[in-house]
Amino acid sequence: MPIFVRLFYKQIIINTFMKIVFATNNQHKLKEVKNLAGHGFEIAGLNDIGCAEDIAETGETLEENALIKASFIKERFDLDCFADDTGLEIEALDGKPGVYSARYAGPENDFRKNIAKVLNELRAEENRKARFRTVIALRIEDETHYFEGIVEGRIIDEMRGQAGFGYDPVFLPNGFDQTFAEMNLEQKNRISHRARATAKLIEFLKNKLA
Ligand code: IMP
Repeated sequence: MPIFVRLFYKQIIINTFMKIVFATNNQHKLKEVKNLAGHGFEIAGLNDIGCAEDIAETGETLEENALIKASFIKERFDLDCFADDTGLEIEALDGKPGVYSARYAGPENDFRKNIAKVLNELRAEENRKARFRTVIALRIEDETHYFEGIVEGRIIDEMRGQAGFGYDPVFLPNGFDQTFAEMNLEQKNRISHRARATAKLIEFLKNKLA
């Protein structure tokens, strides 16, 4: 192939390829995002860039926590980066556990204790409306962008299902009669808060590449 043709193709590859860091050590999340992103992106996790630090989530909102994590990497490593934070927001509890979802019943992040606390607080409550909300903060070049994904549902009063994690066994998404913990990963990913936020992020990045 003549050299100018080769250079032309090389230029196309450079222009349609983006390297970006996802500030997470959670291999499931990383795989999920890579699957959604498809070709054109190289997405690295914290392990891949040699970052072993535990970035403290000291924010008071999901947006703040996501930005803290993305900014840490952007500033320390000078790499474009995105990070996510998720909370379960229960209407009758004024949006709690929200940003404190992981540590609601204590610092050990024990999902059984967290669920027990929520069910106890909702014991006499008829309003069971709840939603999962994911916020992704993206630091790219000199810009900051946010992407939100929400799934609405309700909290049932007993645990059902073995799959998933966190509050999945008590969360019944609207329009379904299975809890998140009764769905397989593929079913959950079709409607989940995280998948919805991630889809918006990927669309944004693809438009940047185009
Ligand atoms: P993270 O921001 O993804 O680490 O989520 C914070 C906490 O929210 C987790 O420790 C879980 O308790 C809860 N959570 C996040 N996503 C989900 C989910 O998809 N199902 C159930 N619980 C979740």
